[in-house]
Amino acid sequence: MLLFCASFALSAQNRHFFPDVEGYHTLTGDMHVHTRFSDGDVWPTSRIDEAYLEGIDVICITDHIDDRHKRMVKAGLFNCDRNESYRIAAKHGKKKDVIVIHGGEVSRGMPPGHFNTLFVSDNEAIAVLNDAEKDHYKAMEVSLKEARKQNSFNVWNHPHWSSQAPNETKWFPEHTKLFEQGLMDAIEIYNGSEGYSPEAHQWAIDRNLALIGGTDTHNPIALELNFNAGVLRPCTLIFAKERTVEGVEEALWARRTAVYGDGMLYGSEEVLRPLFEATLVMTKVQFHKKSCEVVFENRSNVPVVLTKAPGSEEVHYKRFRIVHPQEKFTMWINGSDYHGAPLKVDEFYLSLYVENYITAPGKPLLYKVKLTRPQ
Ligand SMILES: [Zn+2]
Ligand SMILES: [Zn+2]
Repeated sequence: MLLFCASFALSAQNRHFFPDVEGYHTLTGDMHVHTRFSDGDVWPTSRIDEAYLEGIDVICITDHIDDRHKRMVKAGLFNCDRNESYRIAAKHGKKKDVIVIHGGEVSRGMPPGHFNTLFVSDNEAIAVLNDAEKDHYKAMEVSLKEARKQNSFNVWNHPHWSSQAPNETKWFPEHTKLFEQGLMDAIEIYNGSEGYSPEAHQWAIDRNLALIGGTDTHNPIALELNFNAGVLRPCTLIFAKERTVEGVEEALWARRTAVYGDGMLYGSEEVLRPLFEATLVMTKVQFHKKSCEVVFENRSNVPVVLTKAPGSEEVHYKRFRIVHPQEKFTMWINGSDYHGAPLKVDEFYLSLYVENYITAPGKPLLYKVKLTRPQ
């Protein structure tokens, strides 16, 4: 008799894979997940199992810091403090080789909204201060100050959440106050329920805040992502010197992150260029009499979308191409007066926009490489 008990099945296309870049491990992290210990439907161990199946290296347990936990304790559902979901997840993470970060989500009205505090040691100390304060701003300020005493890394979550920002994504004076006190280190520019926020992306660039992405998943992940359609989990790419909690922490403070969501990658040129060059590898360049042959190989699980950028006028090549995961693609470059005529130049630039590697809102990464015929 065959027994099927897996809650969902994943194929290789649903697993994250990015190559390492020089000097750093490329880690994938979901920096925003909920469990049964706040308003999620999932036990902390299942969050780790989901990550393990999807090739996610890092999970931040960020249960809400508000009165939900207190009410559940009062109702006799739990007899524990607000660090318990992390403890359960961390223990299971060791077995599954998933790095687990101790976090929490201070959840208040807008402004200032919700903030994740990562790398904390005691959510209860933050919660007591937050619970005692009625005013949203004051509650957030005391909570983030306590979290900072615990060496937290603070992320402004989903500034574009339609419940708190129904008509426009807005930076309030309260955010300036938190930022100026050094209590905001990053912004979530991609959130599982809200998608990408170009406003948040620009604010992060203007203020040198780290770019963060997370699912904010409350349900089992297979109910939130359409794995049958080949969806990959939105996440943060972390370029870490070592694959440890400390390695992740150092990378976040150094702003070595990028964000993946809906087939797009968002990050500074400093992090996206080495990632792109490790991902779309040029494995062959050969000059022939009438053309130049260039072979690219996509070594990630994310398609690379290329369009022709302005460049050398003496040559022409395809204006649009998607290089699919693990695909080898040959680009033929011909002379601009191509009618079977010989390639007249021995040196030219191949210029491409990488349309799904975004360095600033509306700005794709430019890839430009000089190709020279060997003498
Ligand atoms: Zn939230
Ligand atoms: Zn959340």
